[in-house]
Amino acid sequence: MTVEIGQTVVERFLRYVKYDTQSTENSATYPSTEKQKELGKQLVYELKELSLQDASIDGYGYVTATLPANIQRTTPTVGFIAHMDTSPEVSGRDVKPQIHENYSGSDIILPGDSAQILRPSENPELVKKIGNGIMTADGTTLLGADDKAGVAEIVDAVRYLTTHPEIEHGIIKVAFTPDEEVGKGVEHFDVRKFGVQYAYTMDGETLGEVENETFSADSVQLTFRGVPFHPGYALSRLVNSIKVASAFVEKLPKDRDSPETTEKMVGYVHPYVIQGGVESTLVKFIIRDFEDEGLRKREETLKAIAEETVRSFPKSDFTIETEESYRNMRHVLDKYPEVVEKAMVAVRMANLQPKLHSIRGGTDGARLCYMGLPTPNLATGGHNFHSKLEWISIQDMKKATEIIVNLVKLWSKVPERTI
Ligand SMILES: [Zn+2]
Repeated sequence: MTVEIGQTVVERFLRYVKYDTQSTENSATYPSTEKQKELGKQLVYELKELSLQDASIDGYGYVTATLPANIQRTTPTVGFIAHMDTSPEVSGRDVKPQIHENYSGSDIILPGDSAQILRPSENPELVKKIGNGIMTADGTTLLGADDKAGVAEIVDAVRYLTTHPEIEHGIIKVAFTPDEEVGKGVEHFDVRKFGVQYAYTMDGETLGEVENETFSADSVQLTFRGVPFHPGYALSRLVNSIKVASAFVEKLPKDRDSPETTEKMVGYVHPYVIQGGVESTLVKFIIRDFEDEGLRKREETLKAIAEETVRSFPKSDFTIETEESYRNMRHVLDKYPEVVEKAMVAVRMANLQPKLHSIRGGTDGARLCYMGLPTPNLATGGHNFHSKLEWISIQDMKKATEIIVNLVKLWSKVPERTI
């Protein structure tokens, strides 16, 4: 019996989403939740079943495996990476996947909570999926297509390759990572040991999109200090840092440079924590821009606003601390144009229109790029990530799998170290 591309992708996906792999912020352990390893162990079992001999999970929860080359000539070793965890924002426990066969184009009311309605009017991509099988959760949890769709697509692609020895390929490696959703997916990932020259994360949304660009991101902490004094005798002596910080926040741009007022290629500054008392008040920011220079300017602007603020509160002052989060991966990927070009060709081979896309966020790939591994991000077909209205089309999952197989075919034709 011939094995088709995507033949096992749905059954695998439905199996993986049953594992609660929610990661969490502020955990002292790695991975942040032990339960993520349960899916990791299942994946090791499945990869061994596909005869990937070195399939293993390490103490951090990283699952890796190798599909040996079936050709003599040397070609670049290529990796495919997806993350096992789901977002801390919405529960991923007891996911009850629903398959809406032969989608008619109407609203989909999710059976577990009738307030959760997937409307084509609010989901332009859904309108294009009439006739497809649409998978959702039941409205009480997320689905977990982010990123178990990516995991299932990679495993199915590997299965397809193992059952089609006539398809020539070099060494292919796969990796499944924990804790991506809490920004730590590759924190302990050993790039050298993984041993690939180029990689692709399967963690994007709309099919055909090749994500070659992320924000550059920093976190900034401003601490305002006042002068505490007994309130009964505080005349001309007390300086309340809460008021200093409030005045500072009030001066922040409102109609621009904010997440709620920007889109596309425009960055922002975003205060997300404020805490303190009379003596000192901390304001935490995330800062985003596609250009590093823009990021630096935004930080300078924050500093200038803080300076202006403390001038009107004599004896108050502030400190500012900046920490790098990640940098735009395009700066690395531009040095290896063939990595993105191959992805565009692989999409075209699947009869889809490829499109470069910039992510208003980061990916594990952005960090991997700066760890020495050029890694653009490809679409899984999933939509409405981190939401109870998460959905994915079965046909799109199969296409995403086909794109992985196409990439393997394309790289098998490249002699090593030509780019
Ligand atoms: Zn993801």
